[in-house]
Amino acid sequence: MKWSLRIARISGIDVYLHWTFILLLAWMGISLFNAGKEGWNYFGLVLLLFVCVLLHEFGHALVGQRFGVKTDRITLLPIGGVASMERMPEKPWQEFWIAIAGPLVNLFLAACIGIYFVASGQEVEGLNAFSSLSGNFVSDLLAVNLTLFAFNLIPAFPMDGGRILRALLSLKYDRLKATNIAARIGQVLAIGFVFASFYLNIWLMFIGIFIYLGAGAEASYESTHSALSRFKVRDALMRQHTVLDKHRTIAEAVSRLLDGQEKEFLISGNGEIIGSVTRDELIAGLEKVGKEGLLGQIANPNLVALHPDTALEEVFLLMNQKKVEICPVFEEDQLIGVVNRENIIELLMVNNAMRKNVAFTKTISKV
Ligand SMILES: [Zn+2]
Repeated sequence: MKWSLRIARISGIDVYLHWTFILLLAWMGISLFNAGKEGWNYFGLVLLLFVCVLLHEFGHALVGQRFGVKTDRITLLPIGGVASMERMPEKPWQEFWIAIAGPLVNLFLAACIGIYFVASGQEVEGLNAFSSLSGNFVSDLLAVNLTLFAFNLIPAFPMDGGRILRALLSLKYDRLKATNIAARIGQVLAIGFVFASFYLNIWLMFIGIFIYLGAGAEASYESTHSALSRFKVRDALMRQHTVLDKHRTIAEAVSRLLDGQEKEFLISGNGEIIGSVTRDELIAGLEKVGKEGLLGQIANPNLVALHPDTALEEVFLLMNQKKVEICPVFEEDQLIGVVNRENIIELLMVNNAMRKNVAFTKTISKV
């Protein structure tokens, strides 16, 4: 996520504050400044709320780590937290435990506060000095954690409950079908929320819209993902491509760009592939070092070397990680072609259209 401020690094995971969150804190600080002690208590409660959200996200991340799923970062937004995981495990039980870990953290916190309440009623009285706008500080915190627990268990994407539901459905169905069923259930719930908002609370409408969009996004992500998992690099391989030497000029590459269909080129040096340049990098290079500049000066040195049998879903992950747009494909140390993002997307589109056509033909033959 762009425009975020790194505030901490805890067990190898960077914690970021999104700028909208910083804005919210600043706005609250200013508007509560005049409200005196009450105001600052409220401010403190909001900060503690986000500590609870952070612990919730760490619940996901640390259980993920146990299953070998890396979390790159946790970002705090005004609407909650996001743990950016490298991938979601496809084993249903692993996904189940990662998804439920967050809400369980909130349940645990709520239980601790509850026990504290029961065990030391008088000390709670003492804490009334921190009483916030809506009553007792500690009981507010209890309410916050119970709300986070319940809200996240709503069985709809993008909530944790949606993932839990998908994981459980995956025990019976394949992952794509499980996702589609979970997304459908989520959308029905979302419509329910919108209707309920007319009678109960207007906020339910926003939650409903949020869930409706989240469910659709997850379903389409999963269908791309499952389509990718059926293909290998071989299926998207382009044998026709141009390799340019690093001593050639930017002007030469630009004329190639204008002459043909290729938008990215592999760059070689001493007979080996040493990087790549994209159209955008060529344009930026023209501005920076001029048309007589050498390709070696502007080439992106990141390389993702592929084998024809590599799964395409892995390729997308690698391309995103290394920020490359074109990958050389080697078979027995021989360069046999390239794969680029555009070609993978075209393959998916063609495949998608063909599947729809098959489904369409089936429907007609039924009639
Ligand atoms: Zn969560």
